[in-house]
Parts: sequence; structure tokens; C-alpha cells
Amino acid sequence: MSTLRDVVIVGGGPVGASLALALRDSGLSLTLLEARTEAAEGDRRSLALSHGSRLILERLGVWDQISPLTSIETIHVSQRGGFGRALLRAADADAPALGYVAPYGAVQRALTHALHQYRELELLQGARAVRLDKQQDAALIYYEREGKSNSIAGKLMVLADGGALALECAEQRTHDYHQSAVVANVSTDSPHRNRAFERFASTGPIALLPAGEGYALVWTTQPNTAEQLCNLDASEFLGKLQAQFGDRAGHFISVEGRTTFPLSMRVAGAPTHEHVVLLGNAAQTLHPVAGQGLNLGLRDAWELAEQILSQRETLGGVAFCNAFHATRRGDRTTSVLLTDALVRGFSNDLAPLRWLRGCGLTMLDSLPPAKRGFIDRMMFGA
Ligand SMILES: Cc1cc2nc3c(=O)[nH]c(=O)nc-3n(C[C@H](O)[C@H](O)[C@H](O)COP(=O)(O)OP(=O)(O)OC[C@H]3O[C@@H](n4cnc5c(N)ncnc54)[C@H](O)[C@@H]3O)c2cc1C
Repeated sequence: MSTLRDVVIVGGGPVGASLALALRDSGLSLTLLEARTEAAEGDRRSLALSHGSRLILERLGVWDQISPLTSIETIHVSQRGGFGRALLRAADADAPALGYVAPYGAVQRALTHALHQYRELELLQGARAVRLDKQQDAALIYYEREGKSNSIAGKLMVLADGGALALECAEQRTHDYHQSAVVANVSTDSPHRNRAFERFASTGPIALLPAGEGYALVWTTQPNTAEQLCNLDASEFLGKLQAQFGDRAGHFISVEGRTTFPLSMRVAGAPTHEHVVLLGNAAQTLHPVAGQGLNLGLRDAWELAEQILSQRETLGGVAFCNAFHATRRGDRTTSVLLTDALVRGFSNDLAPLRWLRGCGLTMLDSLPPAKRGFIDRMMFGA
């Protein structure tokens, strides 16, 4: 017979770890299974965290532990080969910053450190969940750790593993954009002055996020081009980047840490297993164009924690799980649709669409209510 816990979280990435921390001092029995044994230092992506995410991470007591962290005060949005541009400023939103950039590893390190301080949590690092099953009034997860097979049951089983286990228990809608992201750290001969850039090119968007003294680059392109870009020598790479991006950020002078990520959209339906909810990337994996994936996942985690704390008596039951999915549906759907529309609408070279995009950017730039609405949406969700 497996141990029965109130809440079992599978996956201690930024979303699963945030949920666990939000339940600190709740008195609930809680287990977190994480496949890694160490923090994710090897993950080279940088994350743009919204002001709303900052507020959540502050409440969890980890914000001050995230280092390095660079604020975004202005975002310059433009399209290659077309008119129109939009400039979004922190002042437009009465916020200290539009967002903050941190390496994935730094966010994960701060959260994992906080998990280790949380004495009531059973934290099983190096535990890889392999299968989900049902049990009366609980969900059961089988996992492997230190060469042994084990299982654990939860009145509420939260899948926050990034997505693989959700395939067992929920319908999936996927779209392959046939794009990969080249991620790297680059620098230019001009200071960034906390400006971020989003430049839409026909092969996909190119984002430059201020990070330390330079920029974190996310260059979206076709998968074979992405591989080639990673294999070029530095000066050839910088030349190609300059040609695609132009000179609004200055002249590119260095690049390091190039790596690629395949990009697709995957949206899971409500789980068919009772006592199971999906969180973060397990529920929806988005293209990084709008920098929404983790921000949405943190809102998922925060809302689930609030529901757990206010509805303990029905924890994990059908009504509980349905209520969670209903609460999150609006924010999730809007984020998925917005992100997908940005990728599809901006990743082609048709002249009429280029013209429409130019009009859209010009309107966004010149209509303060539209600008404010757009920024609020990016910061706080639906
Ligand atoms: C190039 C790129 C740039 C991005 N930029 C941004 C951005 O600027 N802003 C933003 O908000 N989002 C961004 N994202 C999205 C963001 O990275 C994800 O939304 C976020 O990492 C999701 O967090 P998560 O905890 O749900 O999943 P993950 O980060 O995938 O973490 C899952 C965790 O589960 C663990 N795990 C996996 N399988 C198992 C198992 N079987 N058993 C136990 N543990 C398991 C993993 O080890 C990991 O720790 C970007 C994504 C990419 C690819």
C-alpha cells in the first residue's frame, strides 16, 4: 500500500516549486518529486518575468534571492522590411519596470534553495515519475529513485513535469511551428539602457532582452537554419544577426553559449483521471515569442494554492478539479490564442499582412488605452 499524502507535486521546475512554496505552513502533507538531483545550471534560456510574476515570487520570499536580474524599462517592437513600430515604456503602465530578465538556472536555484528550508515538505530529488494510475479517492504515481521503484498516492496529484505525463491522462492539441530558437548571450557596442527589442522577421521573431551588461538573444528560425547558426564561427554568426536585426541596438560584438530549443505549441485538455490537475508547461507549452509560458505557469500555481487552502475538505475531488480548470480557463485560453496569433501573424512575408502588421504596431503605439491594455495583459494575465 502506498503512502497517502494530501498533495503530491510531480516536477520541481519553477512552477511546481512555486506551488510547493505557496503551500508552506498550510499544515498539509506534501511531497515533491523532481527528476533532477541538482539545480538546472545547464539550462541556458533566459526568462522575461512580468511584474505580476515578481509580485508572486516576492510573496514566496524568493525574489530577492534571484541573481542576476536585469529590469526591462522599454520594449521596442518592429518588423523587418515593413513600416510601423511600437514603443512600450514602464511609465505607460505606472510600474517600476515592464519586466525582469533572469537566467532559468538562477530562478530555479532560488526556488530550490527555498524548498530546502521548508522542513515539512518531503522533497525527493532524483525521483523520476514513470506512470500515473488511479486509486480509490486518490491518484497514484510510480517513480524511480536510486535504482528502486516506488509509488506514492495523493488526494491531489499535480503534474508540473513539463508535459510528458500529461500525455497519459489528457487529450493534447499540438501545433508544430517548424521553428527552433537559438538562445545565446550577445553584446553590442552600445549600452542597453534596459531596453528590450522584439523584431519580427519572415523566418520568425528575434528578441533581445537586456541581461547584465549585454543581451539574452532568442532568435527564432527554421530548425535546420538554427543548427547551422550554432555551428558558425562567432564573427559569421554576428554578421548574420546584424543583417537580420539591423543596428537599432548597436553593432554586435560578441556571442557566447549558443544552444537551440525546438518550438511547438501543446495544449492539454482537462485530465480524465480524477484527483489530477496539470500545471505550467504540463498544461500548456507556448512559443516564447511573447514570453508568457512561465508567467502564465506562475499564475496557475498561485491560483491553485489559493484554491487548495480555501477548499481543503474537497481536495482533489471531481468538483475541486473542475473548479480549478474553470478558474484558469480564461487566462490560459487568452495566453494561448495571443501567443499563437503573434507567431502566425508575424512569421510570413505576404505584403498585405506586412501592411496590416504595420498598421497594428502604429495603432498600438499611438493609442494609450490600447497600449495600457496590452501591457496590463502581459503583466497580469486575463
Ligand atoms: C527558449 C525559451 C525561452 C523562454 N522564454 C520565456 C520567457 O521569457 N518568459 C516566460 O514566461 N517563459 C519563457 N519560456 C517558457 C518557460 O521556460 C516555461 O514556461 C517554464 O519553464 C515552465 O515551467 P514548468 O515548471 O512548468 O516546466 P519546466 O521548466 O519544464 O520544469 C519541469 C520540471 O519537471 C522535472 N521533471 C520532468 N519530468 C519529470 C518526471 N518524470 N519526474 C519528476 N520530475 C520531472 C524537470 O526536471 C523540471 O525540473 C521560454 C521557453 C523557451 C524554450
